[in-house]
Amino acid sequence: MSQAQDYIHQVKDVVLQRDPEQKEFQEAVFEVLDTLTPVLEKHPEYIAQNILERLVEPERAIQFRVPWQDDQGNWQVNRGYRVQFNSAIGPYKGGLRFHPTVNLSVVKFLGFEQILKNSLTTLPIGGAKGGSDFDPKGKSDGEVMRFCQSFMTELQRHIGPDIDVPAGDIGVGGREIGYLYGQYKRLNFSQNGVLTGKGMTYGGSKIRTEATGFGLLYYVKALLEAQGDSLNGKKVKISGSGNVATYATQKAAELGATVITVSDSDGFVYDPKGIDYKIVQDIKEGYRGRIKEYAERQESATYHEGSVWDFDVAYDVALPCATQNEISLDEAKMMQKDGVKYVAEGANMPSVPEAIDFYHEHGILFGPAKAANAGGVAVSALEMSQNSERLAWTASEVDNKLKEIMTNIFKASEKACEVYDLGKNYQAGANIAGFEKVATAMTAQGL
Ligand code: GLU
Repeated sequence: MSQAQDYIHQVKDVVLQRDPEQKEFQEAVFEVLDTLTPVLEKHPEYIAQNILERLVEPERAIQFRVPWQDDQGNWQVNRGYRVQFNSAIGPYKGGLRFHPTVNLSVVKFLGFEQILKNSLTTLPIGGAKGGSDFDPKGKSDGEVMRFCQSFMTELQRHIGPDIDVPAGDIGVGGREIGYLYGQYKRLNFSQNGVLTGKGMTYGGSKIRTEATGFGLLYYVKALLEAQGDSLNGKKVKISGSGNVATYATQKAAELGATVITVSDSDGFVYDPKGIDYKIVQDIKEGYRGRIKEYAERQESATYHEGSVWDFDVAYDVALPCATQNEISLDEAKMMQKDGVKYVAEGANMPSVPEAIDFYHEHGILFGPAKAANAGGVAVSALEMSQNSERLAWTASEVDNKLKEIMTNIFKASEKACEVYDLGKNYQAGANIAGFEKVATAMTAQGL
């Protein structure tokens, strides 16, 4: 075992000993550490400086009580989190997730991913994530508002436009950001740079809602073009029906592909004629319905219960846009059988590690989340820039910048593959390209 491999092994042991129960966090960290051997071999000083143990330990993890009153007058309590993971390259930046599965392990995995993702955007933002085990599903507007106000009453002590700038994630969209922002402002006067994903009338950026989905397709376009291939005529399976899936569907169709599925936690719809993103948008953003209703509104579509990844149909490109660990090894095997050539992740960590190994072993080209879904946070950073200069850019200005950023993320990953002789392992390429910037900044700033 080389010195670098030995060191990576030691850091993994530290993670396992410190937080044995944090499975999602371990998965995200080990996925990255396993790809960093060649960088450490080239830079032994990183081993001397114990850079990896410093990288995997959050600078700060805040956990707090969120008391709120439901419509029946009951006093409820949820748990809130903000993990400020790494500020080496800029103020903490990352979303808030409201979902019953949220716990410290999930927030730490997402925060850790965010460090390298944010680094890949080339914009000056550090990594963070937060959220709560609160479930907005089935709650009234009033309940969501009271919850957001209580959540922000504590969170506001820890954030600020130059300190930490949260945004949305699963369960936190425009409505929640509005309530959170309103409460921040009530307690701190006007600070319009403190959250991103804001509404257009109070400092939001054009294209922020679409950014993760559009960005995913710009990344996929670059990935395919590098192979001399194109999206034109490709069949695409998408999972999820939130804002990532919705706008990925729109952009895929604009680029000539046919999106044949979208899904939610109950089931999926299959539409061989191509999913109409406007119907998905109306169901999900318009009246917060279930994806089943798509099939009731579109004759060419059928609804099926269960996972979209278990549905056997020939297609070319898989874009998981739902949640972590949604694709098992068996489902990766089914992709190969169905003729899939490319997988790019719109959700964070949707493929289990064994599925990723399977993609690599069977020539399925893989765009990992931290590269492929970085468009959302990239436009968040552009929203911060616009807030600082008190200007609002046009949709095409933002969209062009997003396109450039996503193409450059692919190119940076490709370049790392070249430098470290990694073939087409764009997962390792993304990890290395993201890591090198953070490691250089951490080294420059001392212990
Ligand atoms: N939640 C998004 C992500 O996973 C966006 C975060 C942000 O805009 O700060 O990258």
